[in-house]
Amino acid sequence: VSFRAPKGTDDILPPDSDRWRDLFRVWDDLAERFGYGLVLTPLFESTEVFARSVGESTEVVQKQMYTFEDKGGRSLTLRPEQTASVVRAYLEGGRQGVLKGAYSGPMFRYERPQAGRRRQFYQLGVEYIGEPAPEADAEVVELGHRFLLEAGVPDLDVLLNSIGDAACRPAYRATLVAYLEERRDELCDDCRARMELNPLRVLDCKVDGPRLADAPAAIDHLCGACAAHLDRVKRVLDLAGIGYRVDPRLVRGLDYYTRTVFEYVPRTYEAAQNAVGGGGRYDGLAELLGGPPTPGVGLALGLDRILLAAGEPKGRAPLDLFVVVAGPERFDAALGLVGDLRRRGLRVDVDLGGRSVKAQFKVADRRGAAAAVVIGDEWEDDKVTVKDLRTGEERRIAADDLANWRHA
Ligand SMILES: [Zn+2]
Ligand SMILES: [Zn+2]
Repeated sequence: VSFRAPKGTDDILPPDSDRWRDLFRVWDDLAERFGYGLVLTPLFESTEVFARSVGESTEVVQKQMYTFEDKGGRSLTLRPEQTASVVRAYLEGGRQGVLKGAYSGPMFRYERPQAGRRRQFYQLGVEYIGEPAPEADAEVVELGHRFLLEAGVPDLDVLLNSIGDAACRPAYRATLVAYLEERRDELCDDCRARMELNPLRVLDCKVDGPRLADAPAAIDHLCGACAAHLDRVKRVLDLAGIGYRVDPRLVRGLDYYTRTVFEYVPRTYEAAQNAVGGGGRYDGLAELLGGPPTPGVGLALGLDRILLAAGEPKGRAPLDLFVVVAGPERFDAALGLVGDLRRRGLRVDVDLGGRSVKAQFKVADRRGAAAAVVIGDEWEDDKVTVKDLRTGEERRIAADDLANWRHA
């Protein structure tokens, strides 16, 4: 075959995808426990949705979007993130009050591919829309933290900062621009261009950021309301027992954040000290999309990076049982048994190719089954032989007891 998956995209197949399915399950379960409903939005939106919300000055909008014209002449863009879509959906649905929504799925950015940075990548996220309370920020931080723990990412730094709001950011921004003006000649081309449009992002620059250690920090220029908000977020995180570090240098790459911003950085993951996720409050976003003022806070986690940072999986077998048929005359009985066990909730499979017993055992091994069930002559007495594929131990049990069988 001469076709290959497009550059920067991956095929994720069994058994590698077992881990993905586990993490999606952990995520769905956790989002439900925290009271977030499921949100599904289109994979593509009007280009304007991202241009307005993510921001014209951002690298995402300028260089990374998959934008195309459809046959009706509309400019559409594959979603580079989902927050803008969820807020767009909230506004379009005429919603009021609180929406707690969780999502998971592929996002698309045209980037230089490397480990943990794919052109089609997968995010898990929540949006808590319509709630200005700082406790909402803390809840979102806690949810992401809990997911990463349950996903097996050890030694996690939670970085927290506040970048102010419409009341205090203009003055801070002027102070920062004045500071940057004095150093204009030292800045990279990108930063010179973005200095006026979005000076905060200069602090985020991989080239210039580290050289500007003495730059004025937003957290030192907060108004009373922003300072009180941050204090309350910290207090609630303390109560929840979540360790965090205030990092005055933390700014998020997207334009719509206000007040709280945060990131999760695994200490063990070296790939460019990249965060595996983060988020923040975006009280100004709904207005950018033409809606009424609507507070919101959310987070997004990068599944590709989490898998790189996570330890080895706990090793649940992908199948509980693999049914091995001792001869063609037992095949119908085997199919009946498989159907019965599946209805009772076990994860069961069987070879349909009429292979030898030896070959069926090989398939069972390859598929990662915890045990094989042999249907042979003992079936006449309603019995089967169960072989533990890890220890090799064999037992003869009543077929009726199989449904209660679980690998210890
Ligand atoms: Zn720069
Ligand atoms: Zn403020």
